[in-house]
Formats: sequence, structure tokens, C-alpha cells
Amino acid sequence: MLDANDARVFDALVIGAGPAGTIIASALAEQGLKVQGLTATPLNTIWPNTYGIWRDELELLGLTHLLGHSWTDCVSYFSKGEVKHERTYSFFDKTKFQQHFLDICEKFGVSWVKGNAKLIEHQATHSSVTLTSGDVLQARIVVDASGYKPVFIKRKGDPTIAYQAAYGIMGRFSSPPVHDNQMVLMDFGSDHLSENDRKQNSPTFLYAMGFGDDLYFVEETSLSSAPAIGLDVLERRLRSRLKSRGIEVLEEHYIERCLFPMNLPMPSFDQPIVAFGGAASMVHPASGYSIGAQLRRAPDLAIAIAAAIQSETASPYEIAQAGWKGLWPDDCLRKYYLYRFGLEKLMRFDEAQLNHFFETFFALKTSQWSGFLSDRLTTIELIGAMLNLFAKSPNDVRWGLMQFLGTEGSLFWEFLKV
Ligand SMILES: Cc1cc2nc3c(=O)[nH]c(=O)nc-3n(C[C@H](O)[C@H](O)[C@H](O)COP(=O)(O)OP(=O)(O)OC[C@H]3O[C@@H](n4cnc5c(N)ncnc54)[C@H](O)[C@@H]3O)c2cc1C
Repeated sequence: MLDANDARVFDALVIGAGPAGTIIASALAEQGLKVQGLTATPLNTIWPNTYGIWRDELELLGLTHLLGHSWTDCVSYFSKGEVKHERTYSFFDKTKFQQHFLDICEKFGVSWVKGNAKLIEHQATHSSVTLTSGDVLQARIVVDASGYKPVFIKRKGDPTIAYQAAYGIMGRFSSPPVHDNQMVLMDFGSDHLSENDRKQNSPTFLYAMGFGDDLYFVEETSLSSAPAIGLDVLERRLRSRLKSRGIEVLEEHYIERCLFPMNLPMPSFDQPIVAFGGAASMVHPASGYSIGAQLRRAPDLAIAIAAAIQSETASPYEIAQAGWKGLWPDDCLRKYYLYRFGLEKLMRFDEAQLNHFFETFFALKTSQWSGFLSDRLTTIELIGAMLNLFAKSPNDVRWGLMQFLGTEGSLFWEFLKV
């Protein structure tokens, strides 16, 4: 058996080379740690999803050079008509985004291995991960960044999982589905739906943007529902939305089928391994976004691990404890429970309540609604924004917000306990 001083024992082993794995591997290596990365696919395989982010989140990080297309004209449509967002939305240039963090990994000597993690065992001063190939990798701490269904991380409890689902088409259309160079965050227009469809399925909205050169992306999206809305329903609704506007799909360049959990429980912090990204429940329960949070919070986790690893006798459990504290400090945890508390209420809203809710939400000061969506408010500021929203909401929304049904009671209790 190897001990922690053996050259084959890395300081950290990162499992997964999606956004989370690549970002955290580079952050750990920048802290001067000897990092090994495990990738299930060839390292340069382009990530499958399209990632959007509000541009100001990257301005604060000095990373706007990783962006591709940006939209300054961002709007939504609710029951009272158009709402302008006065904020710039962008898509990452996925190749640049991925290569940027792989370059940092290379510069700071991260060594990547291809394979799939299968089994983990913990010794006094390090952990051993066995791959499906039978090879064994060893490190003082293992960071599980293998996505929403992590290979090793255990979570607290087992709630009903709610999913954001979406069906999107990138292509050319007989007439523009949105104004040229415009981004529509949410269009809740639903005149095209039959009464039956409205009754059977929860409300969905159009998320769409123009890329110039007659190219558009249109996506029918369900905010969050349990069970998930079927992709067949979303596709049918998208096509009937377009048809009702007299728009034909001329070319389909790419179809996005999106399904991911919004209310994943917290990982148990009582395990000798730490996580990052989807595996660490870092998806914002209200927006479904996580890339901004990954970029902002990777240094916190890396610094905490680097400090704990200084002690040569620290066990994987002790290093993981420090890591979880760095990644999920109390203030962050409290906000996570508040967001989930809010999501529970949104999921029960009918179409009219959702429209009224978002009209009120986007009428808050930009710093409040943008801070809420980007998780950049303190707990006190977040509570202030929520109370402000409540005070300004029409009665049907207030009534919905006041009801304590489902798991809200236990989420509020978790918030108080932190
Ligand atoms: C369609 C879609 C669109 C999204 N759009 C946005 C968006 O616009 N903005 C945003 O902020 N967020 C978005 N999200 C949410 C979230 O940011 C992404 O899902 C993001 O990819 C999560 O990153 P991750 O690295 O944690 O997980 P993943 O991207 O799932 O990466 C996990 C990696 O681990 C690897 N892996 C899994 N098991 C093993 C194993 N046993 N051994 C080794 N490797 C393993 C996988 O192959 C994969 O490469 C979107 C999600 C989806 C599904």
C-alpha cells in the first residue's frame, strides 16, 4: 500500500472533465497542488451543452473574452406585454471556454488520464479510485465533478426531483421568430395552446435569440416541474407556437434536448470526498444556471483544500471537511435553502400567477433581480429582495407565496438551522 508521500499519490484527483472538472482542476493546480484529472471521453471532446450567462457576471471575473454572441436587446413577454431587461446576455464560445481552462491545467501541470471511475476506498492519508479498466488512481483528496448523477457523492434525503426540460431548434425559419439580434428570455404567450393542453401540462415559455445571417435558436422551456414535462410535449408546443405565428422551420441545424434537476438535495458533508459543479448541487434552484457559480466559487474550494492538505497527516475526511466549508459556507447554504423554498412556490403557480410573479420580479431594481439570479446577494439582501417582491406582488401571487405546502416547511427549517 502507498503512503501519502509516494510520488504516485497526487494531492487531488478530479473526476470528470466537464465545465466543473476542468474549472476546479485548474483552480487546484493554480494553488500549487499536484493534480490528476480523470476524463471519461478524449479530453478535447467539445462539451455537449450550449451555455448562456449574463455578461456582467463575466465582466466581474475578467473573462468576457470567453464569450461568443452577446445580446444587448433582451426582453421577456408576460401578460402585460414586453418587459425590457436592460442587461446584456451572452453565450459562451464553448471552444474558447473549454480551451482556456485546459490551457491553465496544462500550464500548471495537471495530468489527465482517460477512464471511468468505479470504486473508491479510503486509507488514513489518501483515497484510492479504481477505474472500470482496473487501474487505480491515488490522491490525498478526491473531487467528484461527474455531474448531477455523481459516481461517488451521496446526498442528504431523497425529495421528489423537479426538472427543467427544454426542446430547442437552431436553424432557419420562413420569417424571423424574434427580432434580429434580439434575445427573448421568457415569452409566456400561450394563445396557441388548446384548453386540454393547458389543463394537462404546466406552463412553458419560449426562450429564443437571433444570431444574424437569418439564424435563430428557439426553445420551448419548462421552468421546473416534477415529474418533468415530456420532451414530446415541449416539441409539440414549440412547433404549434411557431405555426400559430405563421412561421415554418426551413432548416434544422441542431436540436437541443435538455433535462436537468433543479432541486437536488445538498450532498452529505459527512463523507471523505468533496464535489464540485452539478455533483455539488451548485445549480441555482431558481434559474437552472451553474457556470457563473462554478467560475466564482472554484477558488474558494481550491484554497480550502490547499490549506488543509498542508498537514501531512490530514485524512481525506479532514481535507473534505475543509473543502465543504470552503465551497458551502453558511451564508451560501442559507441562500440555497431560500432559493429552493422559492422554487417550491413557483412550481405550484398557474399561468396567470407565473406571469404576475415575473412581471413583479423584473420590476424590482436591476441590482435585486440580477443579484437574485446570479446569486450575488448576501442572505440579508436576498431576504430584502424577497420581501420587496412580496410587498409589490398582486394578491394572487401573495396568496401563493403565503401558502406553506409540500416541503417548504422543512426547507425553511433547514434555512433556520444553518
Ligand atoms: C442542455 C443543458 C443546458 C444547460 N445550459 C446552461 C446554461 O446555459 N448556463 C448554465 O450556467 N448552466 C446550464 N446548464 C446547467 C449546468 O451548468 C450544466 O449542466 C453543466 O454542464 C454542469 O457541469 P458539470 O461539469 O458539473 O457536469 P457535466 O457537464 O455533466 O460534466 C460531468 C463530466 O463527468 C464525466 N463523468 C461522469 N461519470 C464519470 C465517471 N464515472 N468517471 C469519469 N468521468 C465521469 C462526464 O462524462 C462529463 O464529462 C445546462 C444543462 C443542460 C443539461
